[in-house]
Amino acid sequence: MSTAPGTVYLVGAGPGDPGLLTTRAVALIARADVVLHDQLIPHEALAGTRAGAEVVDVGKIGGGEQVPQDHTTRLLVEHALAGRDVVRLKGGDPFVFGRGGEEAQACRAAGVPFEVVPGVTAGVAAPAYAGIPVTQRNVASAVAFVTGHEDPAKPDSAIDWAALAAFPGTLVFYMGVRRLGRIAEQLVAAGRAADEPAAVVERGTLPGQRTVRAPLRDIAEAAGAASVRAPAITLVGPVAALADEIGWLEDRPLAGRSIAVTRARAQASALAARLRDLGADVVEAPAIRIEPLPAEVPDLSGYDLLCVTSPNGANELMARVRDARALTGPVIAVIGPGTERAMRAHGIAPDVVPSRSVAEALVEALAEIPVRRALIARAEEARDLLPDALRARGADVDVLALYRTIAEPLDDAARERALGADYATFTSASSARFFHAAAGTLSGPRLVSIGPATSAAMEELGFAPDVEAADHTPDGLVAALVADASGTATG
Ligand code: SAH
Repeated sequence: MSTAPGTVYLVGAGPGDPGLLTTRAVALIARADVVLHDQLIPHEALAGTRAGAEVVDVGKIGGGEQVPQDHTTRLLVEHALAGRDVVRLKGGDPFVFGRGGEEAQACRAAGVPFEVVPGVTAGVAAPAYAGIPVTQRNVASAVAFVTGHEDPAKPDSAIDWAALAAFPGTLVFYMGVRRLGRIAEQLVAAGRAADEPAAVVERGTLPGQRTVRAPLRDIAEAAGAASVRAPAITLVGPVAALADEIGWLEDRPLAGRSIAVTRARAQASALAARLRDLGADVVEAPAIRIEPLPAEVPDLSGYDLLCVTSPNGANELMARVRDARALTGPVIAVIGPGTERAMRAHGIAPDVVPSRSVAEALVEALAEIPVRRALIARAEEARDLLPDALRARGADVDVLALYRTIAEPLDDAARERALGADYATFTSASSARFFHAAAGTLSGPRLVSIGPATSAAMEELGFAPDVEAADHTPDGLVAALVADASGTATG
């Protein structure tokens, strides 16, 4: 008996910003047996493939070797006929200059079931991120998507210039920037106004997006002067002028800044997302990883104080507590708002939360609370300031080491990108030490520390931080970084 064929999903990955992947795309990528992807897709999209999935790059970048289309189509069909579910992941939308239609036809011809998942197309998204609506009441009530050959040697007879010049609306061109001069000339020659606003959006929705604007007659020269490269969208129409009023992206406080995030991958995403929202190009360079230890939580009824000194500690503790009633006895103190949030996520509202996330502040906050027996749930390698201070007050203190922080290897590319970034952020002493061990140095980026303990670790390594957060939380670190970036010149 032959296997039932798998399904081919023709999926749009959006224009580059991973936030513009659809939830349907993310779900299908997570369960695909095979992913055949183009080059122009957000590389974050592939992080969600399942272990064991086959991931094949069939794309090319600006003129490089491309897997021929018929070979790609054959791969698609063969994998599906062998019973595998295939995600064919394409930049933007699969049916907008994506050859998705041809691949659908090949599936139909081979009897392979398929589905189409539309994506956010670059011709709409890149202008949107540049502050240009492709339609606007009373300004443009139609929009045309146009493609041209990347190769200037090939004829462009497929394009009816007279019809395009006369088109009553916005023209959006998907193509290599090398063609720009020809396009502008042909349009003007065919009657389009030479002074009509035009814009070229390079790397739309991606870090480092740039927009060049000029009247149609000058747009090619302006783009050339700015050395605009692929991928770029060219837009012709009065809406291009609206960028002056509606532009938003290039004004964000961290636009154009690259920032390395060195904290453990499991925790990096919230900080990375916050930085990306502010316009930063985030370089993920995790230097550490959390390794749970096999420690058991003792009977808590014998303690009158339970201290939790990190969000990881909170998660590791609660993963081991099988019955929430075990926590009813002791006063529960945490080191700061991040750990409080982690405890609350497990349904526990701590009694004591100092406003500054340092051990000294927790000691101070506990000054008025009588303590006979305390349990401290924490990392193996944490400072002994808190247990020592409680012991000095006459308390009987047990330390419960729930996890340790271990080095995460850094590959050469990540190391180079991190050391070449404008900023590197350190959210713990261990992230600074392990990053230094993996990278060999902290020299290069401006160094941002979350607080005094982290700064001290950096100084021990011979690198004083350039910025230290006043509020020792990830939000405080971001605020300090933004303040620094607004005071220093870009570049
Ligand atoms: N299916 C894609 C288009 C593929 S054609 C979509 O719907 O977006 C490839 C062309 O798309 C590139 O030459 C460029 O003109 C444009 N393009 C793709 N991604 C882009 C981006 N992030 N910024 C600007 N243009 C982009």
